[in-house]
Amino acid sequence: MSHQRISAGFVVGALGALLALGLGAVGRPLVVATASFVGDVVRQIGGDEIELRVLFPLGADPHSFEPTPADGVLLARAAVVFAVGAGLEEGLEPLLATVPVRVVRLAEFVPLLAWDGPDGDHEDEDHDDEHHGEHDPHVWLDPTLVARWTDVIRDVLTGLAPQHADAFAARASAYREALAELDRWIADQVRRVPEEHRVLVSDHRVLGYFAHRYGFRVAGAVVPGLSTLAEPTARELGELVDTVRDLGVRAIFVATTVNPQIAQQVARDTGTRIVYLYTHSLSDPGGPAATYLDLMRYNVTAIVGALGE
Ligand SMILES: [Zn+2]
Repeated sequence: MSHQRISAGFVVGALGALLALGLGAVGRPLVVATASFVGDVVRQIGGDEIELRVLFPLGADPHSFEPTPADGVLLARAAVVFAVGAGLEEGLEPLLATVPVRVVRLAEFVPLLAWDGPDGDHEDEDHDDEHHGEHDPHVWLDPTLVARWTDVIRDVLTGLAPQHADAFAARASAYREALAELDRWIADQVRRVPEEHRVLVSDHRVLGYFAHRYGFRVAGAVVPGLSTLAEPTARELGELVDTVRDLGVRAIFVATTVNPQIAQQVARDTGTRIVYLYTHSLSDPGGPAATYLDLMRYNVTAIVGALGE
């Protein structure tokens, strides 16, 4: 990817040239979402009453995405930007810090899991002010946490367009129902996986919230961190190969947004297989994960198919 980095000077210049009204073409608030799955949830609630733009192209990695100058102009015009936050959008954060636009980081409204590194624990944040580890940003892989997003999105949109308050509230309520139904469906599906096979290995540490909600164990990751912006050491890869062999791990789950080369090597070395998941981006509209609900159904079907029986 050859995204151009943006200078602060450029952004200031762009701002000076713009009337940052935060309004779209026909008076609807211009709302920007970072990742495609965030955009889908916002769209479910905002409907036609907002003008929604999704920043990251389908298939882009939210960790590593770096904005273009045109993205800076778009953000400067927006009434609000919905991001996941908690460190997910690492490549975008420098620009978000520069553009004077309201940013709502949805992960701030859910209980985050703390993670102290590959040799530490990955558990409930217990409001420990002494905690110096990272927080896991991958909250959207637990639909009960996305249900909490819906309240935040409804309230923010209502603040921007109070005349549509009833429509936003009705859609948010209907979508929460759909999320609750998805949650029950996932729990049902997971029962088909014998407990000893509920072990997850993924390309990076993406499945913590999913595991926490549905009773899986995260045994390791090809990149033993919360971001894709790192490479495993030879020692870490050796340990992962041992773990996969020792536990008889049946599959390595790899996001459609990352280079699968190292995961493929681990799979070859251990005789396990690669299963692709839509964890960080929706599919294209004709694909199997065109919405957030479809993304979750696709992933759960793939996980249960690989680990079940
Ligand atoms: Zn990730």
